[in-house]
Amino acid sequence: MVSYKELGLVNTREMFAKAIKGGYAIPAFNFNNMEQLQAIIKAAAETKSPVILQVSKGARNYANQTLLRYMAQGAVEYAKELGWEKPQICLHLDHGDSFELCKSCVDFGFSSVMIDASSLPYEENIALTKKVVDYAHQYDVTVEAELGVLAGVEDEVSSAVSHYTKPEEVVDFATRTGCDSLAISIGTSHGAYKFTPEQCTRDPKTGKLVPPPLAFDVLDAIMEQLPGFPIVLHGSSSVPQEYVDMINAMGGKLPDAVGIPEEQLRKASKSAVCKINIDSDSRLAFTAAVRKVLTEKPGEFDPRKYCGVARDFMEELYKHKIINVLGSDGKA
Ligand SMILES: [Zn+2]
Repeated sequence: MVSYKELGLVNTREMFAKAIKGGYAIPAFNFNNMEQLQAIIKAAAETKSPVILQVSKGARNYANQTLLRYMAQGAVEYAKELGWEKPQICLHLDHGDSFELCKSCVDFGFSSVMIDASSLPYEENIALTKKVVDYAHQYDVTVEAELGVLAGVEDEVSSAVSHYTKPEEVVDFATRTGCDSLAISIGTSHGAYKFTPEQCTRDPKTGKLVPPPLAFDVLDAIMEQLPGFPIVLHGSSSVPQEYVDMINAMGGKLPDAVGIPEEQLRKASKSAVCKINIDSDSRLAFTAAVRKVLTEKPGEFDPRKYCGVARDFMEELYKHKIINVLGSDGKA
């Protein structure tokens, strides 16, 4: 048993309370390699933003859970080296799908876990979420739960259709589970293909897809039911067209990739939405950089030369999200 407190990490409780009061959202960036972690920590340290490092089940399989834990511990020390005296860094399990997985993360130094039982029937979702909460709270680890179903594909999480969260269920769910935050479905979606062309309209000038707007009426109804309760948005990459265009121009093939417009995420950040998950955008930034370097310099074979540029691209992206979309700069 390792406590996250020994590693210098923090849970989400205070982060979220401040974010709701302050009208901003905490960035939750997924990571699974060193360059990505360096970019996240540099961006957070330089902008003085609290940050949530997210590890999915797929990332644990890819990078090894022991290595990831020590990387997060190293991230705290790296942040201090960068001049961030009291880093506000949370290590969070993204989409935990069983009690055993969540327990193993709590025992292993995570400061926050998500139990995603949203695909189960309502009463089973409550029972499993409560079981995780009861265990995690003994160690002051915070728990995110999910109600409603997002569409899209993210690692092993996928669903063909979405179901908006039902506002009439949230009070009962939050009360009976004791969860610390709630991921809801209001039209965000996992992956780089959030909407089919049939769900979108097309901009007559550029020919680009324009996605349907988020269901802010559902968010408002949820906030009315649960005033001041921390809300989480998954699947909130905006799929920047400059990266998609760069990838496509350099031999890639991402037709009609489309995300959530940043103005809508900015608007959500000012509400009780206090955690916004961004994964696909950094994958796109990384891939755009690697394609660019290898296309422009076909003789290059030192991975540091293209992974280094990828790291720079991701750092820029993270800073942009923190400052211009989530508004969490200067809050840590
Ligand atoms: Zn998610």
